Amino acid sequence: MPNSPAMPLAVQVHPADNVAVIVNEGGLPSGAVLPSGVVLTENIPEAHKVALTDIPAGSPVVRYGVTIGTALRHLPRGCWVHEELLATPTAPALDHLPIATAVPAPLPPLEGYTFLGYRNDDGTVGTRNILGITTTVQCVAATVEFAVRRIKAELLPRYANVDDVVAITHNYGCGIAIGAPGAEIPIRTLRNLALNPNLGGAPLVVSLGCEKLQPGQLLPVSTLPILNREPHIVRLQDEQHHSFGDMVAAIMQMAERRLIELNQRQRVVCPASDLVVGLQCGGSDAFSGVTANPAVGYAADLLVRAGATVLFSEVTEVRDAIDLLTARAATPEVAAALIREMAWYDEYLGRGEVDRSANPSPGNKRGGLANIVEKAMGSIAKAGTTAITGVYGPGERVATRGLIFAATPASDFICGTLQLAAAMNMHVFTTGRGTPYGLAMAPVIKVASRTSLANRWSDLIDVNAGTIASGEETIPQVGERIFQLILDVASGRKETWADHWGLHNEFALFNPSPVT
Ligand code: CA
Repeated sequence: MPNSPAMPLAVQVHPADNVAVIVNEGGLPSGAVLPSGVVLTENIPEAHKVALTDIPAGSPVVRYGVTIGTALRHLPRGCWVHEELLATPTAPALDHLPIATAVPAPLPPLEGYTFLGYRNDDGTVGTRNILGITTTVQCVAATVEFAVRRIKAELLPRYANVDDVVAITHNYGCGIAIGAPGAEIPIRTLRNLALNPNLGGAPLVVSLGCEKLQPGQLLPVSTLPILNREPHIVRLQDEQHHSFGDMVAAIMQMAERRLIELNQRQRVVCPASDLVVGLQCGGSDAFSGVTANPAVGYAADLLVRAGATVLFSEVTEVRDAIDLLTARAATPEVAAALIREMAWYDEYLGRGEVDRSANPSPGNKRGGLANIVEKAMGSIAKAGTTAITGVYGPGERVATRGLIFAATPASDFICGTLQLAAAMNMHVFTTGRGTPYGLAMAPVIKVASRTSLANRWSDLIDVNAGTIASGEETIPQVGERIFQLILDVASGRKETWADHWGLHNEFALFNPSPVT
C-alpha cells in the first residue's frame, strides 16, 4: 500500500472532538489500537469515525469542535459512529446571527506573483483563448453542435493559437414563463456565460427566431459597454437561409471571422490578481474536511493575499455554518447578503418540502460523512480564513476582488456553470469519492482527499492531499502546491487531466422558475 500508514491511525481535527476519522486504507479491524490507546470494538471502514470516549445517549457528537449530531444511543469508546447513530441538529436560525463580529484582519499582501493570460478589452483576463458560440434556445442546439463539429474538423486546425470551440447549449429559451420570479437566474446565467473571460468578449449568438428568449434580452444594450462590439447573430429562421446547409454555412462564416481575431491574441504577463478562481467539492468524504478542503483553503488565502478573486458557493453546504460566515463578513451589508441568499434557498427547498439535509448522497455517507452538518463543516474549509468581501446571487457576474460567496446549488455541474457565469477563469475541485469532472470553458484542477483515490485514479487526479492525513505533508505544503499549479495551469504551462482527456461536461442551468 504506497503512502499508506502501516500503524493504525485516526485524525482528530479539534481538541474538543469526541470522534476521529480512520486514516488506514481499507479501514481497521476490531481490536486495532490507535496511538491514543483507543481500542476499536468493531471493524471501522476507512474515512469513518471512531468514538474516542464513551458518548451517552442524547449527548453531542463533536467534530471540527462543533456538534454534528446527538447520539441516538450509548456509543462506547472505540465503536463505529455512523449516520444511523446520530440525530441531525436543526440548521442555525437566520435571525440573531452574529453580524461581522469576527472579521479577520487582512493577511500580509503577496506581491510579484504572475501568470500568462489573454487580456480582454473589458479588463478581465482569460486563461484560455476559446471561441464560444452562445445559443438563445434549445431548438438550435443540435444544429450548433453539428456546426461546431465541422468548425473543429475544418477550421480550428488552421488557427493554432485558439484553444477550443465551445457551444453554450442548454435546455432553456422557450416553453418557459420568462417573466416569472426566478427566471432572471437562467437568463443572466446564459448572458454571463457568453461574457466569460476565457471567451475573449464579442459573443457569437445563434437564435432560432420565434423563441421567447430573444437575442436582445439575452445580451441587452446594457451589456454592450463591457463587450467590445455588438454580438454577431445568426437567426436560423431568417429567409436568407434556404436550407440546413445555408444555416451551417452562416454559423461557420461567423465563426471563422472570430477565429481570425482570436488567433492574433498572445498571452501577456498578468498579476495573479486577475485570477477568478472558483472552488467546489463533489463526491466528498470524511477526509475532505481535513485534507483537500483545508489545503484548498490555504491556497485560497494565498490567492486573496495576491489580490485575486476567490469564489466559494454551494448554499446547502454552507447553510449549517452560516453563523461562522456572517461573523466573518467584512461588513454588515455582506452579512445581510449572506442571510438573504440562505433565506432564498430555504424557501426554494421548502417548496419541494425538503431542507438542506437532503444534500448528502449515499456515496458521501459511505465515505464517512454522517450528515449535512459534518459535510458543511468540512466544505467551508475551502474558503480559507480571510474576510468575506462580497456576495452574489446565482448567475451574477462577480466584479469585486477578495473572498466572494457566489450563491449556487451544490450540484456539481450547476455550480460549475454558475461559477463560469460569475466570470471564473480557473476552477479547483476537491473530491473524496472521486468524480471524472471537467468543464469546457475553464481548466479544472482536481484535488483528492485520500491517497488511495489519488493512486487509483492517477490519470484523473491532479493533486493528492491525502498526504496530510498520513503526515507526509502539511496543509500549507499542499496549499502552496495547489497555488503554484493554479498559476501554471492558468498560464498554459501545465495541463489538467480533465483537459488532457477532453472531459468537458455539459452546461447545466439552474432554473427555479416554471416551464410552460
Ligand atoms: Ca458540488
